[in-house]
Amino acid sequence: MAQSQESFDHLREQGYRLTPQRLAILRILRACGEHLTPAEIIARAQQELPGVTEATVYRTLSFLAEHELALAAHVGSGQLVYEIAEHDHHHLICRACGEAVEIDHSQLEALYGRFEAETGYRIDSLHQTFFGLCPACQAGESSVQNENSG
Ligand SMILES: [Zn+2]
Ligand SMILES: [Zn+2]
Repeated sequence: MAQSQESFDHLREQGYRLTPQRLAILRILRACGEHLTPAEIIARAQQELPGVTEATVYRTLSFLAEHELALAAHVGSGQLVYEIAEHDHHHLICRACGEAVEIDHSQLEALYGRFEAETGYRIDSLHQTFFGLCPACQAGESSVQNENSG
């Protein structure tokens, strides 16, 4: 999508350089197209850039997320994952099996607009995660439905 090129241009206008580390990590995220944990990114980055340190990869990921070239998301258990920022989306994540489903941001746009109108906030948190149970896991536990209110 064109968004990345615009982001690159925007970075250059701000005087940031696209260092080999930044480019390599963007390439890794784009090639994967899905969520990657920092550990997975570090392993791949070290193949592309022998000698690159974990600290550099973490710093680069923060930079890319800050400048909206990469998206970060919490996927439960305190785990943070990264992905290329090519389109605005969110995720439904199953607490039981970890399956993730992507939902397009357009489906939440009206809701965001209402929150903004009601509160005066400008919401910029894209890439939300919603937790729940996927259909398969619901089916698996349907026999043990209890009626606890807590
Ligand atoms: Zn599940
Ligand atoms: Zn995502």
